[in-house]
Order: sequence, then C-alpha cells, then structure tokens
Amino acid sequence: MSGFDLAIVGSGYAGSVLAARLADQGRVVLIERGRRWPPGSFPTGLAGVVRARLSPRNPLGLWAMRLGAGTGNALVSGYGGASLVNYGITARPDPRVFATWPVSAAELAPHLDRAWAVLAPEPNPLAAAFGDQAFLDRLEPGRRVDLANTIDWARCTQCGRCVPGCNEGAKRSLDFTYLPLAERAGAEVLTETEVVQLRPQPEGGWTLTLRPTVGGPAQPLYARQVVLAAGTLGTLELLHRSAAAVPTTAVLGQHMSMNGDGLAFLYNTAAPLAGEHGAPITTSVRLPFVDADGEPRTLTVMSGRVPALARGPAAAVLALLAGALPGGRQGPGGNTEGWWQRAGRRLRDAAGVGSAGALAHSFMYKLDAEDSARGTVCFDAQGRAAIDWPDYADDPILRFAAERLEHWARVVGGTVVRNVGSWPGMRSFGVHPLGGCRLGATPQEGVVDPRCRLYRPDGEVYRGLRVVDASIFPTALGVPPSLTVAALAERAAVDLAGALRNPSAD
Ligand SMILES: Cc1cc2nc3c(=O)[nH]c(=O)nc-3n(C[C@H](O)[C@H](O)[C@H](O)COP(=O)(O)OP(=O)(O)OC[C@H]3O[C@@H](n4cnc5c(N)ncnc54)[C@H](O)[C@@H]3O)c2cc1C
Ligand code: SF4
Repeated sequence: MSGFDLAIVGSGYAGSVLAARLADQGRVVLIERGRRWPPGSFPTGLAGVVRARLSPRNPLGLWAMRLGAGTGNALVSGYGGASLVNYGITARPDPRVFATWPVSAAELAPHLDRAWAVLAPEPNPLAAAFGDQAFLDRLEPGRRVDLANTIDWARCTQCGRCVPGCNEGAKRSLDFTYLPLAERAGAEVLTETEVVQLRPQPEGGWTLTLRPTVGGPAQPLYARQVVLAAGTLGTLELLHRSAAAVPTTAVLGQHMSMNGDGLAFLYNTAAPLAGEHGAPITTSVRLPFVDADGEPRTLTVMSGRVPALARGPAAAVLALLAGALPGGRQGPGGNTEGWWQRAGRRLRDAAGVGSAGALAHSFMYKLDAEDSARGTVCFDAQGRAAIDWPDYADDPILRFAAERLEHWARVVGGTVVRNVGSWPGMRSFGVHPLGGCRLGATPQEGVVDPRCRLYRPDGEVYRGLRVVDASIFPTALGVPPSLTVAALAERAAVDLAGALRNPSAD
C-alpha cells in the first residue's frame, strides 16, 4: 500500500521535534488540526481572546478550557501547539524526578541539551529591574532560580502579551524553531486537518481517518509508522475514539498530573514589584518539600506579572476581593505602612493600572510542583477529555505552597488571595496537564513501553504506533514541562529513525 512512511499527529513540542528530526528518513507527514498563527494574527484585546475560543462553531479557534471535577485545563490548537501562547519558560528538571521513570536522567540528559540548543532560551535582560528577584531573596534566601524564556529579547518590547500570543514575532515558538527545520527537510504539513480515528491494517501499518477541521468529507491516510503527539488531552481523545480498533492497558487515563499548577496572589504588599509592565515570569524559588512517604519533592514558585490583557480586570477583581476572602489577611510583620497607603494604591488602580497602584505591589504566585499525580481522565458526551481530581487543591504540596504564602504575608504584609481552586465550589486551573499514557517498564505500570510503543491488552506492543507527548509523563515534573517534552521526542526520534530504516528493529 502506498502512503507515508511516518505520520505525526500534532505539531506541539513533541510533534515538531519528531518532524524536524525524521523528515529526511522517508515520506513524513505532520498533521495539525489548528491553523497557522503568524505574528500579527493573535487577539489584541479580551474580546478577541473570547472570540478565539475553540468550539464547534469556531473549530479553528486557538484555545479551549476542559473542565473536570476539581480541575480545568487549557488546551491550544494551532501550528506550534501550546508554544504559540505559552510563556516560553524553559527549565531543566531535577534529575531526581526520573528515579521512578523507565527513562533515566543520564539517558535523557543529551536530549535535553539538544532541545535546549534549538529552542535557545535566554534570561530576560530586564529581570533585575522588576523587583521580584530582591523580593524572593528576602523571603527565601539562597533558593532563587532565575528563568530563561524562548524569547528574542532584542525584538521583545516587554509588552507582556506572550499569552495569548506574540504579535511582534519575538517569541521563539515552534513555528520559528523546529517547524521550519521540519519543512526545510521535506516534511509535508497538513494544517487545519483533524485526525479522527486510527486503525491497524492487517498487512501492517495504519490507516488514519482525516477530516478538514472546518468540516468536509473524511479521507483515509495510510502510514507505515504513526506517532500520536496530539498533547495530553488530544491524544487521550484520539485513543478514546479509536478504542474499538486499538484497545490498550487498564492504566490508560490514570495517574494524571496537573504538574502542581496553581495561581495565587500576595496583594498590595509594601514591596514595589513591577506588576504593571514587563514580559511575564522571569524568576522563581525552588522549595524543598518532603511527602508523607519521606520522599523529597520540588515546589517551584514563580513570580509573575498578570498578562497585559488581563491587568485592568485583575486589578479591579483583586481590589474587591482583598480582605473579603476567608483566610485573607493583612500581614503586619516588617510592614510599617499605614492603612491609608495601602488603600491609596487600591484606589489608584481603579483610575488606571500603573506603577503607583496596588497591582504593581502584588506578587503573582504561579506554581509548578511535583503533585501526587492522582488525576484520572473523564470524557463528556462529545468525547472531550478533562481531568477529574476533586481534591486536587488539597494535595499536600499545594497545601505546603499555601502555607509558604501565608508565611510570606507575615513577613512583607499584603493580602493573601488564595489559589482559586481552594475556594468552596471552585476548580483549580492548569495549563500543563501531564500523563494518562504513562511510560512504564511493564504493561501493568504503563500505557507505552520505554520506547514509547503502545502496549496492547495482552502485554505485547503494537508495531508502528507510538505516543510521544506530555501524556507519557509517569509523574509530575515540578518545573515547566516543554523542554522535557521536546527532549523525550528527541530521544524517541533516535529510536524511530532506526525503526524506519529497519522495520524488524521496531
Ligand atoms: C497558557 C500556557 C502557558 C504555558 N506556559 C509554559 C511555559 O512557560 N513553559 C513550559 O514549559 N510550558 C508551558 N506550558 C505548557 C506547555 O506548553 C505544554 O506542556 C506543551 O506544549 C505540551 O506539548 P505537547 O507536544 O505535548 O502538546 P501541545 O503543545 O498541546 O500540542 C498538541 C497539538 O496537537 C494538536 N492536535 C490535538 N488533537 C489533534 C488531532 N486529533 N488531529 C490533529 N492535531 C491534533 C493540537 O491542536 C496541538 O497543536 C504552557 C501552556 C499554556 C496553555
Ligand atoms: S513581551 Fe510582548 S514582545 Fe515580548 S515576547 Fe511577549 S508578547 Fe512578544
């Protein structure tokens, strides 16, 4: 049967790496349901962000929110996956995290280096001026880890609009890094094309059912090898739709992680923190935490600025909430300000967010943490995936994070606006769902084997079918995951190149 040697589903961190590294190994096609989003095409106001929501009426939308019990997760659709809208924070994981993975830290290290070289992250040259480095040094001496972003700082205007996408062409999203490499090396790219289902062919290889994202007749596509790289929720949805033809192990959809995502504020402190301008998130502290089993886990607390488009509404909402929340507090320690100074800053934000207002004295507390990965996938009637984890906000590491924030409030003052997921009846929101197709040394432990090949229910592996994306993480990572997703794909590309050259090696 003619067709492709390799079909890759999804153009995020995993799919774009695989396309770039394997495009010269045969006839390779990269299939992406979203559209291209060149600089200048991203929404410029809140109304535009709302209009860009992916829905049945807007199938080429940029983003969607998937709600499960206790959690909500953002997903992104477009050529470049979530790199289009993310902060570009690129962080090396703690080698300790891999102790329970079937891929060792030593094995992954050269692939992390390769991905780092292509993504080329650099620290923000203005970081020291934003105030949060000094703030964190005061609160957690010796624990600061400054961050690097995939941003060309010479072109960056520090406008703070990385979310929902850089209109200046300064962000080194995948459409500026790996994807041009893939296209130059000969990969064929089908954008605005959704993979609806897959099924194995009796004579070997796979048939994918493709459909134009905006609607139209379905078409089959044959490929000898297939990689699912549709992102955590996208890959789970595709396997769910294909379950009759491609059954897997009982571990599918288990052990899902939010990567400790959480967002809270220390509002209106005495410290000036440049909340009103600058590219988001330049520094962090890594705090040690020991879980109930005595195992060490990392909590990364990043100091961020509210995305520019949301600053006005955020200033208004925080001004209203401050003091009214259960657990809200005005910490006195070390803060000699009078109430009129704090009230004055709140009023100033009402007139327009600026450096003299309360938002510019607020610490936005964005978490990435090694949570306990106890989420499970759920599907709605349309087959859309989300994570159920009703008591996520009570995960021990999130409680520890909340305690640190209370402690900081006692040191520097300010009102604690707790993680929204800890409010009664509310959910925790995340941007990097992980797991569900976890790597495992055996089919009892995983959904894919250490070579990323999908296990069959009988414990064998499917020939010519791999999953490589954020869904294969067996645990949380504790730092932003994009670099590790790319590194896992770099590693899988080496293995897959061998299988493409020599099918008996698969
Ligand atoms: C707002 C936001 C901020 C973030 N900030 C950071 C950060 O600063 N640093 C960091 O490390 N991480 C960050 N992340 C997380 C990071 O971007 C993701 O972990 C990463 O993109 C996952 O890569 P992936 O390849 O698994 O999937 P994705 O990047 O999600 O790509 C999957 C692609 O597959 C496509 N697809 C899905 N289903 C189909 C189908 N059936 N057919 C065809 N195509 C399909 C999707 O449209 C999408 O383009 C952020 C995420 C968001 C949303
Ligand atoms: S701060 Fe503005 S210019 Fe800089 S990368 Fe983000 S969106 Fe682009």
